[in-house]
Amino acid sequence: MKLMNPQLAGLKKDELYHLNLASTDECIKEFSQVKQVWFSGTAVRAKKFAEAFQKKHPQYTTKEFGNPNRYSLFLTGPLLTVSHGIGMSSLSVVLNEVFKLLSYAKVKSPKFIRFGTCGGLGLEPGTLVVSKNTLNGYLTSEITWARMGQVVSWPCALSENLNKQIFQVAPVGIPIVEGYTVGADSFYEEQCRLDGFFDPEITEQTQKSYLKKLREEGVVNFEMESPLFAAYTHKAGVEGAVVCVALVNRFDSDQVELTQDTYNNYIDRLTELALNLIQADLTKG
Ligand code: URA
Repeated sequence: MKLMNPQLAGLKKDELYHLNLASTDECIKEFSQVKQVWFSGTAVRAKKFAEAFQKKHPQYTTKEFGNPNRYSLFLTGPLLTVSHGIGMSSLSVVLNEVFKLLSYAKVKSPKFIRFGTCGGLGLEPGTLVVSKNTLNGYLTSEITWARMGQVVSWPCALSENLNKQIFQVAPVGIPIVEGYTVGADSFYEEQCRLDGFFDPEITEQTQKSYLKKLREEGVVNFEMESPLFAAYTHKAGVEGAVVCVALVNRFDSDQVELTQDTYNNYIDRLTELALNLIQADLTKG
């Protein structure tokens, strides 16, 4: 990865404040072998991913970095797992700093994958969903942000190549689909739930017809980070993919009701796929 901002060259030291690291730290070079970076919402899941990889590859040890009150990073040889919190604003901070970190470490062509959870549209809970591309809550494939009071738009795009690779290594017997993802800015309002604190001023009937319209247009799931993930990886010129496991079929329910065992089983599905994906890259060399 190469820094895209020439103004960074003027800094004697770049504080990656939210990661509790700085560009001049000795440990930065430990990241130079990273091949894949897996993002997940929580530190617990990022740690579990690292442990699962380490169990298969005992020649590596796992080193924890970051600030557990903000973002956690677990480095295990060629794998870096990172927690990003909830939502695009939180993800934007950690992605900026991870991109800078990997640029300072001179990492070559890392792949970025978000392994998350989602609400499925017409999908059996437990289905793995690979995003073909992502849409925001206004159903356009871009992120917008405010630069000095003006709207800036960056397009969303994910790696077709990486998606192909994901399907090649998908665990046998586990349902997996590809489709469009709506990355919403809220769990309740923008995901068209009727069970939020506020009256959403939509009815069961208008909800159903909106969800049906989305499904007919190729949308298969809702989550909360994919547009930013897709826009940032695309702009940075790195391969990016988003794979989520559906916790609920939104045609049946707004509420996520799962036993801990079922939830763990769903996360194991993501883990199995993720381990196959890095194995394929390690085997290729
Ligand atoms: N995450 C979401 O954003 N929505 C869901 O319905 C489930 C998980």
